[in-house]
Amino acid sequence: MRDIERFIREFESDPDTESVLADVPMAEHCSFRAGGRADCLLTSRSEAGFVRALARLRDAGLPYFVMGAGSNLLVRDGGFRGVIVKPGADMRAVRVSGSRVVVMCGAPLSALASAAADAALGGLEFAQGIPGSVGGAVYMNAGAYGGDMGGAIESARALRPDDGAIFSLRRDEMEFSYRSSSFSASGAVVLEAVFALAPDDADAIRARMSEFARRRAEKQPLRLPSAGSFFKRPEGGFAGKLIEDAGLAGLACGGARVSPLHAGFIVNEGGATASDILDLMEIARSVVFDRFGVMLHPEVRIIGDDV
Ligand SMILES: Cc1cc2nc3c(=O)[nH]c(=O)nc-3n(C[C@H](O)[C@H](O)[C@H](O)COP(=O)(O)OP(=O)(O)OC[C@H]3O[C@@H](n4cnc5c(N)ncnc54)[C@H](O)[C@@H]3O)c2cc1C
Repeated sequence: MRDIERFIREFESDPDTESVLADVPMAEHCSFRAGGRADCLLTSRSEAGFVRALARLRDAGLPYFVMGAGSNLLVRDGGFRGVIVKPGADMRAVRVSGSRVVVMCGAPLSALASAAADAALGGLEFAQGIPGSVGGAVYMNAGAYGGDMGGAIESARALRPDDGAIFSLRRDEMEFSYRSSSFSASGAVVLEAVFALAPDDADAIRARMSEFARRRAEKQPLRLPSAGSFFKRPEGGFAGKLIEDAGLAGLACGGARVSPLHAGFIVNEGGATASDILDLMEIARSVVFDRFGVMLHPEVRIIGDDV
């Protein structure tokens, strides 16, 4: 029996497994609604099951990838040969304690931002409209409208996959910078995060959230599947502006298009393959480089094999 089949068989009967699926179309699990298949997708109901699965994968030497909500992820059309692990139902808890919010990695950012607002705690208004999980957002140092995760987090509890150790990190140990944290280099998995927030007027917090939502709805193509801004912001400029100035807004490859509303977004207009999206990415990179001498780098995490 192949190692992966043995893994599936074992985790099918694990009480902490929410679901364990074979040959999974990852388009159904990523906000792009595009991409290849994974050999296996395991959703662990509890932290204990999640940690046990990662230990098992390490011991079996099976390739794996930890995902959150899949809102910044694209699996190439040839698929991912290994196991994708995702936090499940009991890993979405959000708890307010004084001026701190303690949240598990699988919680949606919107739930974190709402809990903070309900408790009249300010500092996470920016996070309301970002469609990711807390784990993915800490890894990416997601941010918007002047705020980011690194600015509000106090500490995190994480798992080191190499030896299975669970350890705590203070904010200054997480090396936050623009859309980056220490988690990308270390491979550590965020299990839980603590945000230290400032008491504020609840109506003022809600007003800021509404204003950010209004700006998002006006400027972003939210009705079509995407992964948000495809590229990182280059030094001294904006990817969307450079792509637009290069005359590429509206350009299509198959079912993928550079959004005419916000040229930093690549949208799936229906039936886009990962290759359509990646072809468009390469055109945008090379035309912008030729025109302006600026190399764009994807913010979206791209995994798996070409066909
Ligand atoms: C419409 C739209 C708007 C968006 N707007 C914004 C925005 O304003 N600002 C912004 O920054 N982003 C934005 N994004 C992108 C995306 O929502 C963020 O990057 C988000 O933080 C990704 O979280 P996720 O849970 O979906 O991560 P995934 O896409 O599932 O994974 C992204 C990365 O995080 C890693 N990861 C996931 N969970 C963990 C974990 N527990 N521990 C360690 N690593 C983990 C994965 O391995 C992967 O490398 C937008 C996306 C969309 C679709």
